[in-house]
Amino acid sequence: MRAEEMLQTLVAHGYRLTEPRQALLEVIACRPGWFSVRELSEDLGQKKIRVGRATIFRTLNLLVDLGLLERVRGANEVEGYVVTGAGEHHHHLICSRCGRVEELPECPVAERLAELAAERQFQVVSHNLEVYGVCIQCLRQESLEQEK
Ligand SMILES: [Zn+2]
Ligand SMILES: [Zn+2]
Repeated sequence: MRAEEMLQTLVAHGYRLTEPRQALLEVIACRPGWFSVRELSEDLGQKKIRVGRATIFRTLNLLVDLGLLERVRGANEVEGYVVTGAGEHHHHLICSRCGRVEELPECPVAERLAELAAERQFQVVSHNLEVYGVCIQCLRQESLEQEK
């Protein structure tokens, strides 16, 4: 999702586009994968954009409420965010090294889960599954470093 789409969604819901908010959205939209508040702050620092911590947290919460961001735990259980992609229900492959996030196009567990739940007469409302590992780029990087 691009910054413009995020901005439009905010406006459509009656939110004002303050300057810090706008700057924040642009930085968020540029991020390729998973990020924590710390990484976001570092990005802002590099671009010399000054946004208070309270504004950062308020904006992140707002974006989650509007469905533009998802709260996803990264490696080591660190609280973080991912820009929401297309489709309603999906799962993520999250690289523990670089934070890259890939979306799985379909749910790999829904059917089996429904079966197992039905056996226990349990009615499933929702489920959540994040997959952690190492992405192809990081694996390649690693094997290059080993060859040296
Ligand atoms: Zn990686
Ligand atoms: Zn699923």
